[in-house]
Amino acid sequence: MIRINENYLKLKPSYLFSEIAKRVAAFQAANPDKPIIRLGIGDVTRALPEACITAFHRAVDEMASDATFKGYGPEQGYAFLREKIAEHDYRSRGADIDADEIFVSDGAKSDTANIQEIFSVETRVAIPDPVYPVYLDTNIMAGRAGILANGRYSSIVYLDCTQENGFVPDLPGERPDLIYLCFPNNPTGAVITKGQLKRWVDYARENRALILYDAAYEAFIRDKALPRSIYEIEGSREVAIEFRSFSKTAGFTGTRCAFTVVPKDCRAYDVAGNAHGLHAFWNRRQSTKMNGVSYPVQRAAEAVYSDAGRTQVKEFVGAYMANASLIRTTMQDLGFACTGGENSPYIWVKTGMDSWEFFDMLLEKASVVCTPGAGFGRCGEGYIRISAFNSADNVNRALERIRRVLQ
Ligand SMILES: *Cc1c(COP(=O)(O)O)cnc(C)c1O
Repeated sequence: MIRINENYLKLKPSYLFSEIAKRVAAFQAANPDKPIIRLGIGDVTRALPEACITAFHRAVDEMASDATFKGYGPEQGYAFLREKIAEHDYRSRGADIDADEIFVSDGAKSDTANIQEIFSVETRVAIPDPVYPVYLDTNIMAGRAGILANGRYSSIVYLDCTQENGFVPDLPGERPDLIYLCFPNNPTGAVITKGQLKRWVDYARENRALILYDAAYEAFIRDKALPRSIYEIEGSREVAIEFRSFSKTAGFTGTRCAFTVVPKDCRAYDVAGNAHGLHAFWNRRQSTKMNGVSYPVQRAAEAVYSDAGRTQVKEFVGAYMANASLIRTTMQDLGFACTGGENSPYIWVKTGMDSWEFFDMLLEKASVVCTPGAGFGRCGEGYIRISAFNSADNVNRALERIRRVLQ
C-alpha cells in the first residue's frame, strides 16, 4: 500500500488568494458595470527592462546556431552572471561575497522552500507572523511544525511582528536553530536597520543558529543607511544565507531568475557535534536536483547589471515607489496608521476593524481589491496590505475611489 507523506495533512488549506478570487468573482457577477482595480497582487505589471529584452533576444539567437548553441550549463549558474552579482550586489557595498558562493536558480520561492532540506528534521524553526507562507508550509511538509492548536503549530517559534515592535521581531524567548527573516518585508513593508539586524546576527552567533534572510525586495530600499544585504553586517558570513530575486527588482516573475548566497563560513553540526560546511551541502543538493537556469534567462539577468540595465531598473523601481508613496500618503491623510511604502512596494494599513470586513468594504464600495492581513498570520488581523505593483493610472483611480468612500 502506497502511503502518503502525512505531514501534508497538517497544512492549512491555502485559503487566502482563492478566497479573494471567490469574493471578487461574486462581486463582479453582481456588479458587471463596476470595473475592479486590483491592489492586492504580489506580482509586477511592467514589461522587462529593454536591456534585459535585448540580451534575452541575442541569447535566443545564439541557441539557433550550432556554433553558439548552449546545452547544459553549470548547475550553480554561469560565471558571467555570478561574477556580476558578486561585484555589483555585494563587493561594491563592502560585503565580502565571492562569485562561487552564489547559486543561481529559477526563483527565491523554490530556494526558500528547498533550503530546509539540508537541515535535520529536529531543527527548531522560528518564523515571523505575519509571513510569506512558503517558510512555514515547507517546514510543515518536512515534519518540523508539530501539531496545530488554536491556529498555531506547537513546534514553531513564532516571531510576532506588531505595531509595538515596529513590525521588526524581538529576539525570541525560546531558542530556535533556524530563523527566517524577510526585509523589506512582505507583507508589512517594514524595514530593518543595521543595528537591529546586528542584534540578530549576534544572537545567531551566540546560539549557533542560522538566519535565512529573504531580501527579495532590497531594490526598493531608498534610505541609504539601511542594509540591502545581511552581509553588510559584521560576523554574518558565518550565520546567514541570503535569498535574492530578479522577480520584483527587474520584472522577472514570469521569466524566472533568482539566486541564493551560501558563504563558505556557514556551518551546521551533526549529532556528534562536528561542523559541516553548508556551502558543500547546498551545492550537492542543487547539483543533484536541478540542472540550472536557461541560458537566455541568465543573459537577460546579467543585463540588469549593465549601465543601461541599471538605469532602467532604477526607473522601473521608481515608478512603483511613486505609487507606493501616493498610497501611503493618501491612507495616512484618511487617518490610517501605515507601515511600509517608503522602502518597499507594500503598504500595511491598520484598519481598525476585522481585515476581511475591511476588504469587503473596499471591494463593495470602491471596487478596489486589497489583501486582508489575517491571511498572512494571526498578527495580520486588523490590517490590510496594499500593493504598489500597478500602473500609475490604476493607482490614482483606486485612491480617488477610496478617498470618496472613506473621507
Ligand atoms: C516575490 C517574493 C519572492 C520571490 O519569489 P520568486 O520565486 O523569485 O519569484 C521571495 N520572497 C518573497 C517574500 C516574495 O514576496
